Amino acid sequence: MRYLIGNWKSYQTISQTQTWLTDFSNAKPKINNRIKLILCAPFTDLAEAKRIIHHYGLQIEVAAQDVSPFEEGKHTGEINAKMLSELTTYCLVGHSERRREFNETSEIVAEKVARLIEANLSPIICLDTPYLEEQIKLLLHKRIPLERCLFVYEPLAAIGSGQPADPFEVEMIAQKISFLTESRCPILYGGSVTPENVISYARHHCVDGVLVGGESLNPAHFVQMMDNLSYES
Ligand code: PEP
Repeated sequence: MRYLIGNWKSYQTISQTQTWLTDFSNAKPKINNRIKLILCAPFTDLAEAKRIIHHYGLQIEVAAQDVSPFEEGKHTGEINAKMLSELTTYCLVGHSERRREFNETSEIVAEKVARLIEANLSPIICLDTPYLEEQIKLLLHKRIPLERCLFVYEPLAAIGSGQPADPFEVEMIAQKISFLTESRCPILYGGSVTPENVISYARHHCVDGVLVGGESLNPAHFVQMMDNLSYES
């Protein structure tokens, strides 16, 4: 199974989401069942995205971009895993933008992963080399079932910079993650992936797919990436 995951970050209103999915559907994408498509959308878009995906009969799953580290309770403004479980089956956690802008630590990320697992959701966990081992150790310490997780290697310098990482370096880090996680989960790459370079990552043995930020906002480019991945699969 190959993964193509879009991360819309803090973009897309509900009406823009409607337009994106309509454009995607109009492009008549030939969705290969060996490729799993997931869109990490803002909380406000999840219900409408799900509705439209069902309406057009598209094989895409929606995912949240974050979750509260707390269970339900007196935590004003927090969206917890139980709430998400009626909307999604996946949730992104530990994105470097959250580490940088919201001071998220590996401990907080591990708490979030634990809440997602308790609610039967699959965490998509972003990692970079400075905290890669620390993050995986914390998850193992919490006895997180890693076979229910996906990991994404996202080197900071490659995110949103137009400077993607060297595919051979990505393969080496993916091998390391695979070793640390005892090959129990898919490993993806994220960082300035485009329709042109997507194959250079996906053709590596340890890389099971890609997480795409900026380019996923364009439905035509998303279809192109999907087609290129299908060609290789
Ligand atoms: C991301 O948001 O995780 C990401 C990889 O962004 P971009 O593709 O824009 O580098």
